[in-house]
Amino acid sequence: MRLVTYHSQGTERVGVLDAERELVFGIDAAHDPGAGGVLGLIESWGSVGPRVDAGGDAVPVDKVDLRAPFFPRRNVFCVGKNYREHSTEFARSGFDASDTERRNDVPELPIFFTKSTGSIIGPGVPIDPHPELTSSLDYEAELAVIIGRGGCGIAADRAAEHIWGYTIINDVTARDLQRAHKQWFLGKSLDTFCPMGPWAVTADEVDVTNLAVRCWVNGELRQEGNTGDLIFDVPTLVSTLSAGITLQPGDVIATGTPAGVGIGFRPPRFLGPGDVVSAEITGLGTLTNPVAGT
Ligand code: MG
Repeated sequence: MRLVTYHSQGTERVGVLDAERELVFGIDAAHDPGAGGVLGLIESWGSVGPRVDAGGDAVPVDKVDLRAPFFPRRNVFCVGKNYREHSTEFARSGFDASDTERRNDVPELPIFFTKSTGSIIGPGVPIDPHPELTSSLDYEAELAVIIGRGGCGIAADRAAEHIWGYTIINDVTARDLQRAHKQWFLGKSLDTFCPMGPWAVTADEVDVTNLAVRCWVNGELRQEGNTGDLIFDVPTLVSTLSAGITLQPGDVIATGTPAGVGIGFRPPRFLGPGDVVSAEITGLGTLTNPVAGT
């Protein structure tokens, strides 16, 4: 099941996407847990199950005004340097202030940070390039895990029981701020720096161990990876995070980006006003956002 949040006639609605027919079926909020939006559906998943009745009117998906599928109640958990080739390109870029001494290409343990909830935007919403703050705006296409059942001390082999599904996140980054402030939060949490969507997809729809992750800038393919190449796979990330942090339904974990980001090029190829970034993952759709300005 692919859930979308969209605006129709001035109101926010929840719908189920039929990807093959490219139709959105509205959920009748009057007698459905969809009244709490997609987050409400995710939070009630543990008690009512993953299915909802999509009996509403059908609208072509290209005719609806899609929004971010939902806003998690707390920061988006993120993982840095979780693909080998990206870890190498980052180490060699000179922008990695987290490992200046050893130049360790591959981390021994997952590197966690967060992005503020307030940085989330939906498909099509312009990314603010914040020109007064940064001159090194970069993109990172990533698989994001959506937690459905909370818990702590989740064993890796039980992680699937806690995962509602997946979506796409573009972990937009101001590289100069990331480097200057050492800790990554600031450079990755500026307003509009977390495009998310276009859909929230239940786990049964995809094989998370084998999903192509691609990113285009102005139609040029920049990133091409596969979730099978994650250094720390999804069960490991859930287990590691939950060992001491109780995960909650609706928590989102961005799993890291493959090689091909702007700092991976010589010279670096940063984003500028008017550029268009499209992140695509098998079965999860394509998340496209322009950079504001011309
Ligand atoms: Mg990232």
